[in-house]
Amino acid sequence: MLERAKQLQPMLTELRRTIHKNPELSFEEHETAALVSKTLDSFGIKHKTGIGKTGVVASIGNGKGPKIGVRADMDALPITEITGADYASQNDGKMHACGHDSHTTMLMGVAKLLSEENIDGEIRLLFQPSEENSDDEGKSGATRMIEDDAIKGLDAVIALHVDPSLESGKVGIKDGYLLANADTIFAKIKGKGGHGAAPHMSRDPIFMTAPILTAIHGIVSRWVNPTEPAVITVGRLSGGTASNVIPSDVELDLTLRSIGDDVRKQIVEEVEQALSISKALGGDYEMDVRWGYPALYNDPKVAGWLRNCSTDLLSAENVTESALVMGGEDFSYMAKASQGAMLRLGTWKEGTPQRFLHHPEFDLDETAMPVGTAVLAETALRFVRGQVS
Ligand SMILES: [Zn+2]
Ligand SMILES: [Zn+2]
Repeated sequence: MLERAKQLQPMLTELRRTIHKNPELSFEEHETAALVSKTLDSFGIKHKTGIGKTGVVASIGNGKGPKIGVRADMDALPITEITGADYASQNDGKMHACGHDSHTTMLMGVAKLLSEENIDGEIRLLFQPSEENSDDEGKSGATRMIEDDAIKGLDAVIALHVDPSLESGKVGIKDGYLLANADTIFAKIKGKGGHGAAPHMSRDPIFMTAPILTAIHGIVSRWVNPTEPAVITVGRLSGGTASNVIPSDVELDLTLRSIGDDVRKQIVEEVEQALSISKALGGDYEMDVRWGYPALYNDPKVAGWLRNCSTDLLSAENVTESALVMGGEDFSYMAKASQGAMLRLGTWKEGTPQRFLHHPEFDLDETAMPVGTAVLAETALRFVRGQVS
């Protein structure tokens, strides 16, 4: 399978560069979906478009047997690319800085490889929109796909994400939690505005924010069980307009990352407790909690299939154990609804600068794409043939 995937290198490179040049933001993946559809047509693979708004779902096999899904996300980020590559983004302010161009490409590679196989069962290819963002109703691409029955009837679902911390040619796999719950809080500390020279006539919310910030930064170190991973970052703090004016409120935006459901709830309650310091100081607060993606849990059985399959294709020295990272991923919804696991694919080439995901200079080693393509295709094929272990 790896040799067959390597033969696809020119096609994969061309597809990836086409998508990379034409990045589209979340739920706007119209041209990307059209390219996927056209490519699937050329392989003679039946598929449906407009699933989960702008997603594409393809089905390979006769449906009589086990069913597995393989998922790739298609959206880009609102970042201005500065790589200077000749295939750099042609869409101002938009960039494939998370490698989703390669994910989409590799799934087309999987389609090509599997179109040449007889399959009893079903391998369903899930080209998902909007992993990076949610729509007006707070739903991202995975949720919209699930609502449109894209994973209905599947026995398992697998996916991969590029990993620039890992050398090209290697993969990483982990049992259990791979990524975190990723929630957001928009908070407001409310005081009473006034003249900077007469603070006694007002209730200064900037003054109130100082102990609140200290309390927020004490949550993980003092109130969370030290054996439980958690992180809280105040990423935006905004208040005031001039040196001599006391504003009426201060805004704080926070990201909260955790693993289990208990800590997830606890840190939100602790943030509220910290915000309530404002009341003791004669002010008030507002708190708007936006629950984000749940933590991604790699089912150990499914992760084992990916691990064993990778070892067979790539040999043991190229299969590493991944660490938990406190990022978020909406594949977690699919992994929760079915049983699932995500593989990390090394894309950093030694001797090149190591740029991380969402960096305006992010790029990847394209020779990693046949590796990812082969592992996904082989794992899916072994699953429907009852050969996974
Ligand atoms: Zn991303
Ligand atoms: Zn991503």
